[in-house]
Amino acid sequence: MKYKVEECGDIDIFCSSCHQQLGVVVVTQPTAKIKNKIIFKCPFCNDQSFRKEIDGVVYISGTDKVKIINMDTNIIEEPNMTMIQELTIFTGK
Ligand SMILES: [Zn+2]
Repeated sequence: MKYKVEECGDIDIFCSSCHQQLGVVVVTQPTAKIKNKIIFKCPFCNDQSFRKEIDGVVYISGTDKVKIINMDTNIIEEPNMTMIQELTIFTGK
């Protein structure tokens, strides 16, 4: 798969309520036919991040203060072969 390296990168995810950083989404193949809709649950205030829409192959990681406990994945195939991946990330301190 061909992709531009400069489009890859780390996207920091913050809680919509208490603004703590909840994790990092690392995009490795931004041109892959995958659309991710990602929500991180917040372990500090029990709210969550705003839903981030990020294209490509992604890796999810926590931070120094937040660890990933579990992940719900819901995958929807669109007729044009694009895959929509809804990810809900459950975190802990
Ligand atoms: Zn929070």
